[in-house]
Amino acid sequence: MRQSRSIIAALLAPLVASILLTSFAAGPAAATRKIAKSRPPPSPVKCEMPKFRIVVDVGHTPDAYGALSARNDPEFGFNFRLASLITTKLKSEGFAATRLLVTDGKARPSLFKRVGAANDGRADLFLSVHHDSVPDKLLDTWEFDGAKSYFSDRFSGHSLFVSERNPQFTTSLKLARMIGRQLKEQGLHYASQYTLPVMGRYRRQLLDKDVGVYRYDGLIVLSRTRSAAVLLEAGSIINRDEEMEMNSAERQELIAGAVAAAVGEFCERR
Ligand SMILES: [Zn+2]
Repeated sequence: MRQSRSIIAALLAPLVASILLTSFAAGPAAATRKIAKSRPPPSPVKCEMPKFRIVVDVGHTPDAYGALSARNDPEFGFNFRLASLITTKLKSEGFAATRLLVTDGKARPSLFKRVGAANDGRADLFLSVHHDSVPDKLLDTWEFDGAKSYFSDRFSGHSLFVSERNPQFTTSLKLARMIGRQLKEQGLHYASQYTLPVMGRYRRQLLDKDVGVYRYDGLIVLSRTRSAAVLLEAGSIINRDEEMEMNSAERQELIAGAVAAAVGEFCERR
């Protein structure tokens, strides 16, 4: 029995080999024909967590500090604290090539510095971190710390912005939606006022009404960056209650965790 089996094997071997050779020969040729026929667009760069270059941009500069909170604290400080936490979180979750971007100087030149830093560093992802306010005409006055101060309790919540002028608009929108979804799952709500006429020149097109993603084409940091780019307004610091929440470690942890989870999901699906 043993012998006859090996004889059959010996007889079959060339046949098996020829079948294998035939299929190998047909394989690559067939694949080439397929590719030539359908010509798919180049696939996006694969995301390898340790090599994925994320730039976390701190909105504004110490000189041009952005909005002033209801309690007269500059927006830059809020942005710096949250962006630092997001950076730490992303690094600890395996995105070792994440970089915190702090810019100095005047407002407009600083925008081009940011874009230059991201493009020169061949960033894969650009996330700008801000805190929100309202147009001046909506401000009310109160006294804080003995000084006349400004606030508006009318609106609250976070919002996300992407630019259709960004070369990777679709990817940017996808990431913005993932961040929005994560924030929503944490029980946070988005700022819906950007569609209202009262916002005047700040009025924006709502691209995702479920999770609060708006279109903001004119923003330099979104339109001039070559990588996918998203701007996060993390919450309103002109709203007196929300300012306190944005100052709390709990809220900062919640937002940073949501952003890191979204970036993780984004990388996984790439
Ligand atoms: Zn800002």
